[in-house]
Amino acid sequence: MCSVARTLQSPKANPWRTGLEQALRTPLELLEFCRIDPDQVDLLTEPAFPMLVPRPFASRISPGNARDPLLLQVLARAQEAHPAQGFGTDPVGDHDRRRGSGVIHKYHGRVLLITTGACAIHCRYCFRQHYPYTQDTAMRGRWQGALDYLSERPEVTELILSGGDPLMLDTRHLRVLTEELVQSTAIRRLRLHTRLPIALPDRVDDELIEWLGSLPWPVVIVIHANHPAEFDQAVDHALGRLRSAGVHLLNQAVLLAGINDQPEALESLMARGFAAGVLPYYLHLLDRVAGAGHFETSETRAAELMEQLRIRLPGYLVPRLVREQAGAPYKLPIL
Ligand SMILES: *Cc1c(COP(=O)(O)O)cnc(C)c1O
Ligand code: SF4
Repeated sequence: MCSVARTLQSPKANPWRTGLEQALRTPLELLEFCRIDPDQVDLLTEPAFPMLVPRPFASRISPGNARDPLLLQVLARAQEAHPAQGFGTDPVGDHDRRRGSGVIHKYHGRVLLITTGACAIHCRYCFRQHYPYTQDTAMRGRWQGALDYLSERPEVTELILSGGDPLMLDTRHLRVLTEELVQSTAIRRLRLHTRLPIALPDRVDDELIEWLGSLPWPVVIVIHANHPAEFDQAVDHALGRLRSAGVHLLNQAVLLAGINDQPEALESLMARGFAAGVLPYYLHLLDRVAGAGHFETSETRAAELMEQLRIRLPGYLVPRLVREQAGAPYKLPIL
């Protein structure tokens, strides 16, 4: 994925592109940045899924803490190489639902578009780490296949830009897509699933805000934060700008052992997100992707945590606990 990110760089680099170039890419670099003794961690030195950690994200890791909940999301550790039963390369059945040109059509009325394989951060539990991006994305403004698919299906009223991370594309490419969507499809809602406001808040720049504000439909941005410490002033600022552009902000989190599987962490994630203008959406049970077995939390524990959240939080700050099951017509609610 790193190589994809590199080839996407435009000649006149934006500040956030520079931020991406300066991202930390090896375990030792990251540990040094966070002043953590490498002897405290069982590292994986040559992970199949390369490491990628932007400095703004790394700066929120507490120095010296080898158990830091942000660090553990991004550091390649030896456990990744341990095989776990039932963990595979296509845990959510995406490969079967590909319709070409980056289109994944699983659910009624909404279509997901893989816009690029690149991300600004590589999350070790990611279910897309084995996705064959090089064969199938709508990358770099080649939208025609996806537009044809949508224009033949007026029942599809929502387009979800995903990836990878759709905000890894330059805004001008995204603008071409939305201009075409207005012309030739029945789309009435646009949604973006992105971790960039958290990973590299500089991505929320004037050009992005201007584009979002110009769109004729309601726009939903689903961010991805798993722990309250992922928010800081720069993130708040980026999210505030998105809200001022009229965007609805939601968060999806993944339940991760050792990171957010305590009621206090989840409660304060929801409260901290709301303070930044974000409502909770889904809390996902881990997708069973090869290499992520050590992050799994049991369904029993998940149910206990949900009970605690219902006790501690107003209803609108309680996320929906779901598991994505291959072949199901929606993300299945768990209790
Ligand atoms: C998650 C997902 C969606 C969106 O589902 P919602 O329940 O509407 O958030 C749509 N398409 C695909 C392929 C998905 O994986
Ligand atoms: S940003 Fe999202 S798609 Fe990219 S590695 Fe993280 S979880 Fe996966």
